[in-house]
Amino acid sequence: MRTYLALGGALLLLLAAFWFKGALLTLPDVRGAPAAGTFDTGRALARLGRILPDQRPHPVDSAAGDAVRERILAEMRAVGLDPHVTDDFACNSMRRGRAVSCARVRNIVATIGPRGGHHLLAVAHYDSSPVGPGAGDDGIGVATLLEVAAQLRGQRLARPLTFLINEGEEAGLIGARAFNDRHPVAGNTAALVNLEARGVTGPAIMFETSRPNRSAIAAFAADRPVANSLTTDFYRMIPNSTDVAVFEERDWTILNFAVIGNETRYHSAGDTLEALDPRSVQHMGDQALATIRGLVTEPPETRAGEVHYTDVAGRMLIVVPAMLSFALLAILSLFWAWTGWKRRRGLGLAVAAIVAGLVDAAVIGWAAQFAIGLLRDGAWWRGYPEITGFAVAVSALAGCAGPMLLLRERRIETVRAAFWLVLIMLAIILTLVAPGGAILFILPPLVAALGVGTRWERPAALVAAALLFLLFAPLLELLETLLGHGSAWMFAPLAAAILWPWLIELKPLVVRARTGPVVGGIGAALAAVWLWAALAPAYSEDRRQRFSIEYAVDADSGQARWAVANDGAPLPAAFPGAWTRDPVPWSSAPRWTATAPSLPVGVPSLELLSQREAPGGRLVTVRIAGAGFDSVALRMPPGAVLRSVRAGAFTRPFGEGGNTDPWYLRCVGRSCDGATFEILVGGRTPIEVTLIGAASALPEAARPLLAARPRLARPQYSADSTIVTRRFRL
Ligand SMILES: [Zn+2]
Repeated sequence: MRTYLALGGALLLLLAAFWFKGALLTLPDVRGAPAAGTFDTGRALARLGRILPDQRPHPVDSAAGDAVRERILAEMRAVGLDPHVTDDFACNSMRRGRAVSCARVRNIVATIGPRGGHHLLAVAHYDSSPVGPGAGDDGIGVATLLEVAAQLRGQRLARPLTFLINEGEEAGLIGARAFNDRHPVAGNTAALVNLEARGVTGPAIMFETSRPNRSAIAAFAADRPVANSLTTDFYRMIPNSTDVAVFEERDWTILNFAVIGNETRYHSAGDTLEALDPRSVQHMGDQALATIRGLVTEPPETRAGEVHYTDVAGRMLIVVPAMLSFALLAILSLFWAWTGWKRRRGLGLAVAAIVAGLVDAAVIGWAAQFAIGLLRDGAWWRGYPEITGFAVAVSALAGCAGPMLLLRERRIETVRAAFWLVLIMLAIILTLVAPGGAILFILPPLVAALGVGTRWERPAALVAAALLFLLFAPLLELLETLLGHGSAWMFAPLAAAILWPWLIELKPLVVRARTGPVVGGIGAALAAVWLWAALAPAYSEDRRQRFSIEYAVDADSGQARWAVANDGAPLPAAFPGAWTRDPVPWSSAPRWTATAPSLPVGVPSLELLSQREAPGGRLVTVRIAGAGFDSVALRMPPGAVLRSVRAGAFTRPFGEGGNTDPWYLRCVGRSCDGATFEILVGGRTPIEVTLIGAASALPEAARPLLAARPRLARPQYSADSTIVTRRFRL
């Protein structure tokens, strides 16, 4: 009985550590009475409250955007800045995606410090997505920069500091493009700090640097750093981007910070001042102020070279040259291979069992999520993701349980060697894809190695297990936050890798336990926790369902329909109409649709002004008549060949994408009405163009639908809109 109590207690403690792992990323408390020269979150938030008094969406080139810009200018003057506003009709294309996006952007620029020298740029954007007030995205960046300006104005700076609060980030990094290509300061800049948000809570992560990164890391100043060199590699693999995607064309020292907690409020009506965690503002503010202050008062670090770095539970930053990190990994792999060789009796089975634990963890987690998915529709994990995250951790324990029992008869020294061998193998594989991750895999196996063959082997193994937890549990938390819980089972192997060294040290207890009670106990816990996840409400007050309502008109046929963009869950029974799931021409995501009454709407049009032969194909000049829409897009079929777009002073090639992706030329804002574009088309075959006009407003007839929208639902990523499509040939 004592054995089972001790074993059960130990396993419960381990699981409790997983439940509370988010606490490793605790934020600084907001200082009520900040000392002179430190970041004042109260003042920063008060300014943001004055900038967003009505908390309305203020997308690029809109009346609401004009009002926000005027209020920012007033706040800048109030802290003693002398801002100017640039004005460009500009276009940009992203590295990924076959699109060019254009808008009239008015960037706010203000410089302090000496006249001479290379500038430090401090960047945020003031436009919001069309869906929400953008208190987080990117109100947090604007508020932080204004407070940094208030702190540094009037101080002796070693080089000029230019604040760029740009417009059009949400429409495709257009303000950043305009500044990069047209503003004289861009030609005389040495370093850049960018502040962003993809949520409203959690730490401000320094998630991306220029490469090589030594100068950026030398400039990174934080008491409570949350940063590691894996994230820059990782970030390049996911589709999100920030203004840094434009500026990385330059040879600048770049640091990119973002708050990413609670993505359910990002680009939604829930991105409000009330939801923005003041501690996140404090964390971003402390780091931005210290980093920017360092960059403008000290001579800049110019050493080249690549480093690997990681924070340890948000308390300290370890930095080592990349070469040293690789060398240590190589030495550790040799050491553990040698130790494994010395302990080779039964090593093969132990390695197989460790790997089986990682695989089983994923299989169990996947099976549970799949089973719940058969019973529940939509994003059932969204409201209480911590339960699903915890269930994945219990799945990891369950996945390791069988292999753990199998290893009862093996020597613990052999099993330890097997674990570190497996971990280092995984590190080497990861390093091939994301080299910056190497540093995460050095300290724990190094500490474990120091004890090998001495009487300190067990204490060293326990310290190594604790270090592994401190390094990887926050990473697991951030991965869950970033990628969400829809496929949370993918994180189970990581949870299992964190658990394994503890389970190995529990071997003396496991040896004394019988299989039945261990399997029964863990099985019961597994069933209970997944039942909890399965029964938890899908949505909460804080974390609502994604739910946008659209009124769409096909101007060629005159047919109209209602559409709902949500997470795929069936519509509420009270929702009027007969709804089916269908593809739509204005988005790649399917919608629920139902027939709608034909109502009078404006219809955007496309006028072919001229067409002539040009190097690379034909140059087609078109003019858009926007009919009052907030945005107009030309969607062209995947088979067409499109090369570039010229508008105003900007010529941009289309971004790259898959051969089956449609092409888009988008224009956002009031100035699209009457705007002309020169499109370089490859080949002579006429192109079928679908012109898509979208406005963030619904006709009166949508009232019953709006009233029937579930209480715990709100628009996200796309606004409630009226969309009119019309076909043309170019
Ligand atoms: Zn943003």
